[in-house]
Amino acid sequence: MQRACPNCGAFMAIEKIFCIRCGERVVQLTKHDLEALDFVYPPDRDAMESLKNFEALSPLFDELIVKHHIRSALSRLEECSSKIDFSSKLGSIVRECGVILGLSRLPKAYLLESDAPTAFTFGMKDQYFLVISFGLLGILDEGEVKAAIGHECGHIKCHHIKYHTIAELLLRGAEFSLEFMGGLLNVISPVLRLMLFSWHRESEISADRAALIVSDDPAKPISLLKKLAKNAPVSENPAFEPLSTHPVYKERISHILNYYRSPEYRAVREKVGWRLAISKALAPFCRFCGGAKPVAGLFCPRCGRSQV
Ligand SMILES: [Zn+2]
Ligand SMILES: [Zn+2]
Ligand SMILES: [Zn+2]
Repeated sequence: MQRACPNCGAFMAIEKIFCIRCGERVVQLTKHDLEALDFVYPPDRDAMESLKNFEALSPLFDELIVKHHIRSALSRLEECSSKIDFSSKLGSIVRECGVILGLSRLPKAYLLESDAPTAFTFGMKDQYFLVISFGLLGILDEGEVKAAIGHECGHIKCHHIKYHTIAELLLRGAEFSLEFMGGLLNVISPVLRLMLFSWHRESEISADRAALIVSDDPAKPISLLKKLAKNAPVSENPAFEPLSTHPVYKERISHILNYYRSPEYRAVREKVGWRLAISKALAPFCRFCGGAKPVAGLFCPRCGRSQV
């Protein structure tokens, strides 16, 4: 049985959760899917609350700063990267992370022609862009690649990307040539800046948790971090935030291990396991009679049969 993507019209197997061509979610999120609050690092969650101070400025930031940044990052990408097909091996890892973490849409994924080992994400709520370099793929095994992509998808799931962008633009404020934008960034008070920078570190802990959740094996995100620490590049391309610029690997590794041993982690993995087990049941059609049913409904309203 096939179904058409409501966004791009591509046909795909009925059990697919994301469109294989455009990355749109074709099976809506349900209460069985993971939420950011299921795994977010509490200090990250609390700091995000405080950062709501930004909300008054938000439309301006979106229009003048974030969109400008996205446009320039995209035009650079066009010159030095190739798009990752969702049906490729790498694309299937992105899809798997999207399913486990319950993303509302897959990021468009790109392979960056660079020897620097890096992975990063930019974009806005309606579309994110995930970039991974040849240099990084060259030093990772498959499980570590999944951890790296899971980490980036974790940032997306936790709505970190916009504030990351603002924090990074503040850090490199000097080279930010457009004066009016510099002026706009100046309205961010020193206190708010400090908050933003310390939150940035906390947001990494949440993203590392996402990497662990998709791996279900602490060895993978930990060896990823160790390899990044060992290969930490001097970034030639400060527009792109490398994973490796994030500080204190040892601290991050102990966070991963502590989280792995926690009851919270077991609850999350249980939720993920259940979600994967009932994947076939979470469809808009009954598996048996083909009648319409609510996506999250585990019983068919027409024939009454259990979908699990
Ligand atoms: Zn599509
Ligand atoms: Zn990160
Ligand atoms: Zn039925």
